[in-house]
Amino acid sequence: MTDSQIETIVFQVQGSSPEPYRVTFERKNLGVRAFCTCPAGQNGTSCKHRTLLLQGVVDDIVGGKIEDLGVLAGWVRGTRLGLAVEQLDDAELLLQQAKLRLANAKHALASAMYGNERERK
Ligand SMILES: [Zn+2]
Repeated sequence: MTDSQIETIVFQVQGSSPEPYRVTFERKNLGVRAFCTCPAGQNGTSCKHRTLLLQGVVDDIVGGKIEDLGVLAGWVRGTRLGLAVEQLDDAELLLQQAKLRLANAKHALASAMYGNERERK
């Protein structure tokens, strides 16, 4: 392979439309670009189809080779795209932790409102 050759990985992903979306990843000169045929993808905005594949989520894949996700992970490792996916993973983890903390705080608040602490004494 020469530097200017383009390698592609293609998946079919079941989204909200009856017809699956086509998600294409292109690698050229060690940079990776991602395209999707969904409305968001066509508008040039981020979409969950590409994002979930980059995060290694296989749930909605209806066409393409599952093992290509591993190839894709290798492609993006160390790239700007890979870094952005890592940042997203980190942010989603923090969000989950914050949601759990919020639920626990609400539970503690509700418990305190009923005076449970006083009743125990
Ligand atoms: Zn999409």
